[in-house]
Amino acid sequence: MKIWLVGVYDGWLGTQPRVSAECSSDTPPGPENSPDVAGLIPLLRRLVGARVADPAVAEDLVQETLARVLSAAGRVEPGMLEPYAIVTARNLIASLWQEKDRHRRNEHRVVDLRPPQAPDEDLLAREEREAVAQALARLSRRDRDTLLAHEVSGQDTKSLALELGSTAGAVAAQLHRSRARLRVEYLLALERVEPVSDRCRPVLLAISGGDRRRQREVDAARHLMECELCGRLSGSLMERAQQRDDQMVIPIHADADIVAARQAARELATRLGFSRTDLTVIATAVSEVARNIVRFAGVGQIAVELLDRPRRGVQIVARDTGPGIFDVEQALSDGYSTYHGLGLGLPGARRLMDEFAVVTEVGRGTTVTMTKWREEG
Ligand SMILES: [Zn+2]
Repeated sequence: MKIWLVGVYDGWLGTQPRVSAECSSDTPPGPENSPDVAGLIPLLRRLVGARVADPAVAEDLVQETLARVLSAAGRVEPGMLEPYAIVTARNLIASLWQEKDRHRRNEHRVVDLRPPQAPDEDLLAREEREAVAQALARLSRRDRDTLLAHEVSGQDTKSLALELGSTAGAVAAQLHRSRARLRVEYLLALERVEPVSDRCRPVLLAISGGDRRRQREVDAARHLMECELCGRLSGSLMERAQQRDDQMVIPIHADADIVAARQAARELATRLGFSRTDLTVIATAVSEVARNIVRFAGVGQIAVELLDRPRRGVQIVARDTGPGIFDVEQALSDGYSTYHGLGLGLPGARRLMDEFAVVTEVGRGTTVTMTKWREEG
């Protein structure tokens, strides 16, 4: 078995390079990615203990809060974990009381034997439909039409871009913002509430879009603590934000897929505001690794993912289960090309990207992981 690792990762893979025959896409270890959730326990025990008399119930609530904080940790800026934990615990306690309240109401209903006006489920479905309609009505016409064409009619970003006189990347970014806004407006409509201050919407939007930079800019952490409404809505927004739309996986088996991979990388990278030159560089590197899959492995996939730690960037993982590369050093040396000067090959992709690693095992396959960081400023 021969495994090669080429290239150096700074920081986020830790000081020890991880060498494995397949590259997993889970969150790499490192201090930045292991928020001190355990450190929240004393605070939460105090907070819950003061409101819930039963120690077993209180401990359940603390554990449930921690679970929710952990699952949201990747989507919020680190300074927001404590406020989020506090509002989550408060919300859980409130819903516990509501639950008891509903039991009491239902008990009452059983006793007086009056038939319910309408089954609860029908009522809920109708309320949801109305909330969706109201939320859609609050989007701009352009956002609404684009979102509906994409989500309902399945029109792709490229053909939408043609119609709108825009680029596929810009349309993807617009769709991302529209979805985030729709989630916010939907919740407001469902709860039949209006924001209590003009700070609410920007905060809710930053949470809904999973945009940590915006969360810092609008000081979402402080607002969550001060605003009862946003504290209450943030939980569902964070849960919804887990449905990630900052990554794409493109199966590769023919030349046409190379184009699709190129476009996907460009679309996602556009959202981070990469320069036009960088977008071309990224797309070109993706073409090279995709072409490598088609030529040498036949079948594989390319995953494109946006990163925001330690900086904002785009990461591409190209994976195949082909024959593997027998001599990686030779395959990566400049001027070496197995397909006679066509394209830049792996050495070209390596030069174009900021980080580049190849893990290959003869007879098992190859994984190329490469990252381009966005210049800040
Ligand atoms: Zn608010």
